[in-house]
Amino acid sequence: MSLSTVAHEETGLTPFPQFITEFKAQLQHLFHLRGDIDQLSIKRGLPPFMLREIMSSNPLATYIPAQYGGRGGHIHEGIALLAAASYESLPLSLGFGINWALFLQPVGKYAEEDIRPTIFNGFLRNRKMGGLMITEPDFGSDALHMQSFYTRDMDCYHIQGTKHWAGLTGWADYWLLTARQKNADGKLLRDIDFFICDASAPEQNIVVEEYYENLGIYMLPYGRNRIDVKVPLMHKLQPQSTGIKMMLDLLHRSRMQFPGMGLGFLQRMLDEAVQHCQQRAVGGKSLFDYDQVQQRIARLQSAYTICSAMCFNSSQKAGVENNLAPHGLEANAVKTYVTDLMQSSAQSLLQLVGAKGYRLNHIAGRAIVDSRPFQIFEGSNDILYIQIAEAIQKQMQRTKQTNLFEFLQGHELTGRAANPLKKILNFSLNEQLSQRRLNELGKIISRIVALELVLKLADSGFQQQLIDDTQTNLQQEISALISGYRETNTSAYVEGYAEGKSWFDCYLNS
Ligand SMILES: Cc1cc2nc3c(=O)[nH]c(=O)nc-3n(C[C@H](O)[C@H](O)[C@H](O)COP(=O)(O)OP(=O)(O)OC[C@H]3O[C@@H](n4cnc5c(N)ncnc54)[C@H](O)[C@@H]3O)c2cc1C
Repeated sequence: MSLSTVAHEETGLTPFPQFITEFKAQLQHLFHLRGDIDQLSIKRGLPPFMLREIMSSNPLATYIPAQYGGRGGHIHEGIALLAAASYESLPLSLGFGINWALFLQPVGKYAEEDIRPTIFNGFLRNRKMGGLMITEPDFGSDALHMQSFYTRDMDCYHIQGTKHWAGLTGWADYWLLTARQKNADGKLLRDIDFFICDASAPEQNIVVEEYYENLGIYMLPYGRNRIDVKVPLMHKLQPQSTGIKMMLDLLHRSRMQFPGMGLGFLQRMLDEAVQHCQQRAVGGKSLFDYDQVQQRIARLQSAYTICSAMCFNSSQKAGVENNLAPHGLEANAVKTYVTDLMQSSAQSLLQLVGAKGYRLNHIAGRAIVDSRPFQIFEGSNDILYIQIAEAIQKQMQRTKQTNLFEFLQGHELTGRAANPLKKILNFSLNEQLSQRRLNELGKIISRIVALELVLKLADSGFQQQLIDDTQTNLQQEISALISGYRETNTSAYVEGYAEGKSWFDCYLNS
């Protein structure tokens, strides 16, 4: 019996394959017949009837454990739902992803048993939503030093601070708030704790001080929030060890689930590119027949294949029963590369479509601004690449290995992929690396991890031609990255750069 059938029998919901087919048809109908997504996407928010219609099929039940009446929270189903949504609308998929990874999963895993039924019921019966507030105006990447704090009163926790950029600002019914404990001396402790805030309950109202004019993902509201709430003692999440480890488990699982949002989006970029190029004639022949165009389309297809491999892998590994806190290397490699692929694929589609695509009400233009923040939130890619490289360096030191190829060949995340790359990876890595070189090394590792996942996907019967082309494209990309990495470049900001001769002065003196 399949997992989907078990969930169906326990909950009385339609089996997942039927649900997802109907859900895709419903989105298609809503966004292309009842409404026009290209026009809707240039306005902020979503017309109430649309949100009502989308939520009427209870998509978030996919993310709720079966014992509370949901579909069971299976990772493969959750990813399939994200992908179905992101084919039509990346912001919609992000909205689902926020509810899933940043609220329902942590609540299901770490909230007190007694509070879970009420919350899950609210999602199932009253279409409630939840998000997560970590970021503060002065503490984004440096979230561990956040200044929001809490004190414990007799029967509640009092949480105060300022949070901004939380997805679903002003919209969500529930929030996970993060804060540090203030001790009797007024000092903030190092660990970070998580609290459920029910925004409609007395003393738990969150004030939105300002709504932001976000550049893209217009469907979702963002802004700055003033936090001064008192939540019952039962609302504190219970970490298995420290709060920071709980946060890592949560964030790594979320990063492993990014490919769900990536997949539908990347498939859409590919389908749009093919359709446009087949219809458009330039210079007396179909755009589709130009070699340069074929190269772009092949790369879009590789992005789709890589992302498929990541979805396959995350479905096997990212279940809530696993502690993902120690798996930063893999989660960061997946998040960084898939989000880079989303942005580069959007750029490529716009290039192929040309001026017609340079509009917010065209999927190509919108895709660029919608996918861009994925490289910034949940860990800036710049920093995550550095962390990937540092993790590799640490592991190499621990195993007293200096040769990169030999190390990667013996690593569970890169063992198979390293072999065809032996010639270019066969160098020693025992020097102190600058941040920029760590960043470049992190990029290389993330692509090798991706190649490994693609080779594993091939074992499961994925179309071989797509695997072969993707391997060729990945090897070329890795090779280019390695030659960049091996060049020395220490250029830095030149103080007083405008004080010397300008090009104009040079011209006059020439
Ligand atoms: C659309 C969107 C949605 C978001 N959703 C959420 C949400 O739901 N919940 C939430 O809590 N937050 C959310 N965020 C906030 C997001 O997580 C932060 O923006 C992110 O953590 C970066 O913080 P920052 O913007 O303060 O940038 P900063 O911390 O100022 O960093 C800016 C840049 O500086 C560089 N940098 C910083 N530190 C280093 C370093 N150590 N080494 C080298 N370079 C460095 C990097 O290039 C980095 O991208 C969202 C943001 C956006 C744009």
